[in-house]
Amino acid sequence: MSDLLNAVLAGATPDELAGLEMPGSYRGALVKRSEVDMFAGMESSDKDPRLSLHVEEVPLPELAPDEAYVAVMASSINFNTVWTSIFEPLPTFGFLDRLGKEGPWAARHALDYHVVGSDAAGVVLRTGSAVRNWKVGDKVTVHCNYVDDQDPSAHDDSMLAANQRIWGFESNFGGLADVTVVKANQLMPKPAHLSWEEAAINALCNSTAYRMLVSPNGARMTQGDKVLVWGASGGLGSFAVQHVLNGGGTPIGVVSSPEKVKLLNDLGVEAVIDRKAANYRFWSDEHTQDESEWRRFGKDIRALVGAEPEIVFEHPGRQTMGASVFACKRAGTIVTCAATSGYMIEYDNRHLWMKLKTIKGSHFANYREAWDANQLVCEGKVLPPLSAVYTLEEVGEAAYQVHHNLHEGKIGVLCLAPTEGLGIDDPELRAKVGEDRITLFRRHGA
Ligand code: NAP
Repeated sequence: MSDLLNAVLAGATPDELAGLEMPGSYRGALVKRSEVDMFAGMESSDKDPRLSLHVEEVPLPELAPDEAYVAVMASSINFNTVWTSIFEPLPTFGFLDRLGKEGPWAARHALDYHVVGSDAAGVVLRTGSAVRNWKVGDKVTVHCNYVDDQDPSAHDDSMLAANQRIWGFESNFGGLADVTVVKANQLMPKPAHLSWEEAAINALCNSTAYRMLVSPNGARMTQGDKVLVWGASGGLGSFAVQHVLNGGGTPIGVVSSPEKVKLLNDLGVEAVIDRKAANYRFWSDEHTQDESEWRRFGKDIRALVGAEPEIVFEHPGRQTMGASVFACKRAGTIVTCAATSGYMIEYDNRHLWMKLKTIKGSHFANYREAWDANQLVCEGKVLPPLSAVYTLEEVGEAAYQVHHNLHEGKIGVLCLAPTEGLGIDDPELRAKVGEDRITLFRRHGA
């Protein structure tokens, strides 16, 4: 490892870091253009990230004026890394090639390898000449909204920008690496009471759930709202239920095991449905949905909380959307950001229009939303749902766990951090928030 990265590990001062040379190359988790057909003809579930994700030394790209190099202490697995590693729905090299056409700096991204990862916590190593708000040595987390601020459409809500991208998915040089290259407007302060791996897992899923529920751009949740949350102990869901509880609402979590029910109860979510135990058959065959099963689901929700949910937090997609539209209250909102089980959606439109419901699309978060969501983590008001930790070398196995829904909450990945538990700068706040609460998912997953 380079002197600079060793110095980061040793806790060097900003001056010491500034005086050392940047390494010429770094370790990154990547997929290869030459392998995009390796799973051709296989079922999604058989496509194995352990075969397609490699950890290799790659050259360090040059730094653009609006960018920063960050030494990544820890990162996390997001579902987008699963999509990239199984080359579904499309290989991500198409995104890199399109980005590469935007100009000389963008051209750096169009390579025959794609360093993945859309979360990171670490230390700023260098800033470009146009960066004002950050300096060498700053401890940061990184959000994944990658936006060109010279695009006029970015200046209302940067998620509306024509060339908005997700860093480490639609751009190269992602966070599952020892060094990452990010735009300065992706940086946010690291929560001082958290370890590197606890700090690294929040930005993507927390910001997404925040926009979907709390931000004026989302479902505009208010006090007293009942919110149905699919996958409530998963990456998005474990943040969503915390936002509902913090906002004075009642989450109804849906999960698939008694262990997950218990975890959510421990987090403070009283109303939880075990969808496996309930054995809902929303689809009687591949083409037909069964309204009587939607009704049974709705009845189970009312039995728990006494009414229909004003908001449904959707992301499973094809398997659940019919039930979500049906179960939502009159004039309620189904807010969706994904379609894990299939993106060709079917629902009964009569239940939407006759009851004046809205389906709202949502995607990640703008800088302001990501910053506000990060602030809640910094203040200990949102807990990090870290359930398991892998090393960078084990990134394929970590992605496999997420691909097969074998995890709870979020999986952290140690990049430069040699062990868990490092990087806690504010033990007083940690004690105030509560060690037991901060480590709830980790103790559960252990
Ligand atoms: P995750 O950690 O795997 O959690 C998803 C949860 O959904 C699982 O824990 C599972 O919970 C539940 N689930 C999976 N398949 C289901 C099905 N057929 N029916 C009902 N529930 C099902 O993943 P995540 O990080 O929350 O991400 C979820 C999806 O959102 C992914 O497709 C991801 O790509 C997408 N996403 C989009 C954005 C965006 O900005 N647009 C941001 C983040 C994530 P149980 O088995 O316990 O029910």
